[in-house]
Amino acid sequence: MNKVAHYLQEHVAGEVMTGTDARKYFSTDNSIFCLTPSVIVYPKNENDIRKIARFTWQLAERGRIIPVTARGSGTDLSGAAIGSGILLVTPAHLGRVKFIDPKGGVVSVESGINFGKLQQLLFTYDRFVPSAPASLEYSTVGGAVANNSSGMYSIKYGVMSNYVKGLRVVLANGEVIETGKLSKKELNRKLGLATFEGEIYRSIDALLEENRELIAKSVINVTKNASGYNLVDIRNDDGSFDLSPLFIGSQGTLGLISEVTLETEPVGAEPVLLCAYMDSADSVQAAVNELRELEIMPSAIELVDDNLLNTVASINGNYLKGVISPPYPKFVLIVEVDGDKEHKLKRTAKKAEKILTKHAKQVVLEIDQDKQKDIWKIREASAIYSGHNQGQLNPLPLIDDAIVPVDKLKNLINVIYALFNQEHLQVAVWGHAGEGNLHVQPYLNLGQVGDRQKVFRIIEEYYKQIRELGGSTTAQYNDGRLRGPYLSRIYSNDVFQLFQKIKRIFDPYGTLNPGVKINVSTDEVKPLLRSEYHLDHIYDHLPFS
Ligand SMILES: Cc1cc2nc3c(=O)[nH]c(=O)nc-3n(C[C@H](O)[C@H](O)[C@H](O)COP(=O)(O)OP(=O)(O)OC[C@H]3O[C@@H](n4cnc5c(N)ncnc54)[C@H](O)[C@@H]3O)c2cc1C
Repeated sequence: MNKVAHYLQEHVAGEVMTGTDARKYFSTDNSIFCLTPSVIVYPKNENDIRKIARFTWQLAERGRIIPVTARGSGTDLSGAAIGSGILLVTPAHLGRVKFIDPKGGVVSVESGINFGKLQQLLFTYDRFVPSAPASLEYSTVGGAVANNSSGMYSIKYGVMSNYVKGLRVVLANGEVIETGKLSKKELNRKLGLATFEGEIYRSIDALLEENRELIAKSVINVTKNASGYNLVDIRNDDGSFDLSPLFIGSQGTLGLISEVTLETEPVGAEPVLLCAYMDSADSVQAAVNELRELEIMPSAIELVDDNLLNTVASINGNYLKGVISPPYPKFVLIVEVDGDKEHKLKRTAKKAEKILTKHAKQVVLEIDQDKQKDIWKIREASAIYSGHNQGQLNPLPLIDDAIVPVDKLKNLINVIYALFNQEHLQVAVWGHAGEGNLHVQPYLNLGQVGDRQKVFRIIEEYYKQIRELGGSTTAQYNDGRLRGPYLSRIYSNDVFQLFQKIKRIFDPYGTLNPGVKINVSTDEVKPLLRSEYHLDHIYDHLPFS
């Protein structure tokens, strides 16, 4: 065992591992990259995280940089849950519920708690967190906050940042801070602190003041955006100030989250589901535009294309039997309407049906909950697609999460088909059409030189077009190592430099998850490309994305 591991073993309460098998297991997440950690620690409590941060800070002061990467369940698709230094694996011990107020709908948890378990607990109080990702059964709340994750209900309910009330965060030097909405008076108190926390508040306050206009102009006009650092929600119109938005979506590059306090929503009446078969991207666009104007925003507007359904039918002939039959329509649009007032909900569902009937060749409105489950199987077919290899070919998460302004949805669909045609690749499209956010995973063989070269060519070309459409490279899966190199292309140079300043303020020595999100180039990530790809970490329960 190396010296660092030895020191850690003597000073932390949790387990420290350096065995070859453990390091190999933790060398991958669900991305296309591989990076072996030196040491793995299962922190027992927040104090362990503090000690490790303090230790690496002190070494960094003397010129030795040891990266620290927080890891939840490692389902990250962007290569952000792997690192070459110390890996802090939170689910082992940090899974406690610290506080729950079912009446007020607030819950505080340790960051390593399994999101699915928390959701089950909340359901017993008739509450839930609607921004949970589809991967909630085997991922953590800390990972969802650090990625600013979201699921198919974000069209109506928003993303994780809409539900975070406050955080406990271990800073790069080991200090612990609590974030949350501060009044002017509370902010002034923070600004006067003679600690690293005080330094951070002063630097961020000054940075926001000096760059007001630039920050206002930096916003990309999409419904959700996980790229970069969130500079716009720190200061609010009512004079309040909150550092939480900076940590949310920062992928462990600004601080290590030990606790999360979340707001929740009450469970509403049983939803109504609609399923429409459509011929063209134009019809999908027209329907989405009108559905978004309804008096109640649908809780989901989801899309799958015929390529996905054909592939899934060829993998498993029984999966779609009795649900939808070939020849499949070009697109299936699934629309859910929910709400707490049943009569309003039903009225809106009827209006949605009218809209869909105008644009679709076939529409079904379903109130029976069991039959709704059958319809959802169409959308959930993406789990079969993304979990299935064709020989040496794997469906790879390369360009799986771009988002464009909703009125450019059909352009996005056309861009995807054209690009895959040009590259002679099989293509399937699915995702959150109502938000302009689509998923695609081309089948490639990472063991072949030609396909490895294609990876970055496809990424380059796709993001050029996403930028032209005014979109972002990531709506919910975040930048990581995969999209970090493209951050400076979707934001202006001035905004990118602000992101770099933010990183320096929180992490002056670069110990926190280096190589992720910021200050990373394609040349640095190319050697990390895996030679084979599989979803071993999650095969026991494969969700749809
Ligand atoms: C099949 C599949 C489906 C998916 N579906 C969705 C989806 O619907 N929506 C969606 O948004 N995502 C989805 N994802 C991506 C991923 O599952 C989510 O981002 C999830 O929230 C990550 O949680 P995790 O515990 O696995 O985090 P990890 O993968 O372990 O980590 C994710 C990031 O968070 C950081 N991190 C973790 N814990 C902490 C902490 N305590 N403090 C600071 N930083 C921390 C890590 O360093 C890393 O940067 C999917 C992934 C797969 C494989």
